[in-house]
Amino acid sequence: MKTIKGADYPELSCNAYWLDGLAIDCGPLTHFPHEPELILLTHGHYDHCGGVRSRALLHEADWDVKWLNEQFRNFERPSQIGRLRKKNFEWVDWFLKVIETPGHTPGSVCFFDEEKRVLFSGDTLFADGFGRTDLNGGNPEKMAESLELVESLNWKTLYPGHGPAMHR
Ligand SMILES: [Zn+2]
Repeated sequence: MKTIKGADYPELSCNAYWLDGLAIDCGPLTHFPHEPELILLTHGHYDHCGGVRSRALLHEADWDVKWLNEQFRNFERPSQIGRLRKKNFEWVDWFLKVIETPGHTPGSVCFFDEEKRVLFSGDTLFADGFGRTDLNGGNPEKMAESLELVESLNWKTLYPGHGPAMHR
């Protein structure tokens, strides 16, 4: 696995993750080693899906990306994005479970590999805090529930959508 670090300008670029052909998130400044087979999106914000040029999946509750992003920019959902319907993704030696974690956006999800105890948390949880809930679709009560759920997972490594990884 390879971390593709976000630029210093977080509004334009998230951390993306490269799992040998499967990617997690794709900001407008993200460059993968080659075109991904599939991109799993943690949510519909521009800095996480604005670079999508190949097949990607987004939770249905974040389908209206125009509305989710309108406080920042005019952004239409790229046509390559389809609906995230599966609950699990198997890829090489990864087995990623989709964990629904609304709060930052209605369709925010985390991806969790139970065996590796690795959690890709998008903008739900960071090493030093959690995602904001004051943007369109944000919900502080749901965020509190989602953070409790994420806390209860047995992860030992956190790969967040911004900032450094965390180990516990
Ligand atoms: Zn976000």
